[in-house]
Amino acid sequence: MKVANIAVSSNADALDKLFSYIINDDIEANINIGQRVLVPFGKTNKLLTGYIISIEEPFNYDMNKLKYIHSTIEEFPILSYFDLLLIDFLRDSYFCTYTEAISIIIPKDLKDVKGNKIINVLNTGKELEGKYLKEIYQNIWNLIKHNPNEYTKNSFSKTFNISSSSINTLLKKGFIIEAPKVVYRYDNKEYNKYDIINLNSDQKNVFDKIMSSEKKKFLIRGVTGSGKTEIYMHLVGEMLECGKDSIILVPEIALTPQMIERFKGRFGSSIAVFHSKLSQGERFDQWQRVKRGEVKIAIGTRSAALLPFNNIGMIIIDEEHEPSYKSDFDPKYKAHEVCEFRCSLFNAKLVLGSATPSLETYLEVEKGETEILTLEKRVNDIPMPKVTVIDLREELRSGNRGIFSTLLKVKIAERLKRKEQIILFLNRRGFSTFVSCRSCGYVFKCSRCDISLTYHFDADNMKCHYCGETTAAPKICPKCSSKYVKYFGIGTQKVEEEIKRLFPGAKAIRMDFDTTRKSNSYEEIYSSFKNNEADILIGTQMVVKGLDFKNVTLVGVIAADLTLNLPDYKSSERTFQLICQVAGRSGRGEKEGEVIVQTYCPDHFSIVSAVKNDYLNFYNNEIQIRKLMEYPPFTRLLLINLSSKIEKDAMDSAKKIHAMLKDENILGYNILGPSPCPLYKIKDNYRYQIMIKDYFDNDYIKQVKKNIYNIIKSKYFDVTATIDLNPNSLL
Ligand code: ADP
Ligand code: ZN
Ligand code: ZN
Repeated sequence: MKVANIAVSSNADALDKLFSYIINDDIEANINIGQRVLVPFGKTNKLLTGYIISIEEPFNYDMNKLKYIHSTIEEFPILSYFDLLLIDFLRDSYFCTYTEAISIIIPKDLKDVKGNKIINVLNTGKELEGKYLKEIYQNIWNLIKHNPNEYTKNSFSKTFNISSSSINTLLKKGFIIEAPKVVYRYDNKEYNKYDIINLNSDQKNVFDKIMSSEKKKFLIRGVTGSGKTEIYMHLVGEMLECGKDSIILVPEIALTPQMIERFKGRFGSSIAVFHSKLSQGERFDQWQRVKRGEVKIAIGTRSAALLPFNNIGMIIIDEEHEPSYKSDFDPKYKAHEVCEFRCSLFNAKLVLGSATPSLETYLEVEKGETEILTLEKRVNDIPMPKVTVIDLREELRSGNRGIFSTLLKVKIAERLKRKEQIILFLNRRGFSTFVSCRSCGYVFKCSRCDISLTYHFDADNMKCHYCGETTAAPKICPKCSSKYVKYFGIGTQKVEEEIKRLFPGAKAIRMDFDTTRKSNSYEEIYSSFKNNEADILIGTQMVVKGLDFKNVTLVGVIAADLTLNLPDYKSSERTFQLICQVAGRSGRGEKEGEVIVQTYCPDHFSIVSAVKNDYLNFYNNEIQIRKLMEYPPFTRLLLINLSSKIEKDAMDSAKKIHAMLKDENILGYNILGPSPCPLYKIKDNYRYQIMIKDYFDNDYIKQVKKNIYNIIKSKYFDVTATIDLNPNSLL
């Protein structure tokens, strides 16, 4: 007899440990680590699902005190040895439970998903012919026997135009048989073949370096349109030749239709597509194809990083700077870290690609941990678009208070006349109440945190959402004494109205959260613009990614300041990335492209660098600020969020937790807050936050998490507490 240490499926934090059970001799031969079992649990011996994490000899256990495993659920292990290592990694890196870790690496409700029932027309029916069938069935049988095939009940009934009771008679008499069969529910759509393109010498250079280098981690920094995707496909093809698996991660499936088209068109049905918009059944099928080794390539969003391949040769993360690679739900994992861990298990290579790499990634390049490969030119000598900056302060001085600068209006009219297309970009994320001077561009910031202050309408004051500092709303600009101190607030809808007013003949379509809520609306807007059914596409960051419209020759950034002044230490980085990406949408065809960037801060290095498409200039500026202000990647930032429908409880629990943290702060960590979240009320929940910004380790976080839950459990039952390390957003 042996002992199995088992993680039981449960949402209770208290049950997040291993429980020991005896493996009955009867089942011992069939039991392995990773297998799912049922175990009797607690006083009532209620049966719970468990996962065998390890198996030991019984010597260290008092066998009289242990219960027996009830039964196995499948004959084979659902979790591989590699999966178990991954679970350890997730638990240690993201402070999650066994149940949370397992929930993201196997599909939901595994046991509930079954194959379809299939009807099979049998030749054996022939021998029975005539003997057992009434005339009316004989006629049907004559028809069926000449069409032997597999049918679902539904298609069988349709093909032969017979009722389900007739089918049952045929089944009963043994003319046809019914059997379950797994039928994969995945996209069987035929994609246009996408032939191999020979790499040019720059691309070939990148490819060769990756294949021959001893290094394990690479960054391809290549401007938009430099042919990164083609390099990815060559790398994946090479892996396929060596019999190894590849995973390609993309930020968002809906926003990368071209990428999927190309991979499907090149690799056909040997590729699994995996993303969050799949139905549960589809997800399960894709997962199974990978698990059974039926595919060697998967392309998908963040969660595809966890697919159960067991011979990984390469993982590619495209647009690696995108925030969607970090999960906002427990386990709050970052795809880069998970991929790096999985690559280390298989001695595989990790390839990151971007025109605007994240600060974290580029710092790794500087430290020599990641090998850098650069593509400075677009393929086929297509030039980068020409970028012009418009100083909105000067527009104001010359009497133009509208949304569009004089130059942008002229350029729009010009394009409309030439029947070329225009993209207008405005990043209004609903939340944009920073305070600035429209005359000189001065933005009110917190002196301690270097973060834009947020205007609060109700109290008519400004608040820092990092440290909680509050100041009265100013009436006069401290820099230039003008009275044009304003709270910023325009949106895409306003842009659309203005376009209609100024250019009544133009057809404009809007792409933002409001217009794409229905499931297919993104594709509809995308194809109608692609088919030249509209002249102007107005949108938020959705219009930024991966779109390749050959007829777009003008891109207008309406107000670069909107992202620049979000109350977030990453706002400069986001601004630089967004402007570069959106500029990359212009002039992708034969006609030369142009970009107009409107801003109140034309001298800000994010904008200056984006205009020159100078990544290194941006990086060198921003990395110094991060270092000086002690922000990631130089420190870690732990965000603690308390939310409740009862306002007082949200606030009190935040204060109490803050006091606890301060009390136990032996190492003198930098603890900020508590302060109301920038988005103070979401779905009737009041939200407070506390931030710890310092050089702490994972053990400290685990201790903090434990203490927080103790406080919540002791008193604040209605409060939900979450923690997030280096979160995407502090809103
Ligand atoms: P990126 O991913 O860097 O934005 P893409 O891979 O999408 O760039 O390439 C941009 C365009 O150039 C695509 O239409 C692609 O088919 C084409 N392309 C890529 N590599 C080559 C090549 N070696 N020769 C000719 N065309 C190429
Ligand atoms: Zn001013
Ligand atoms: Zn502050």
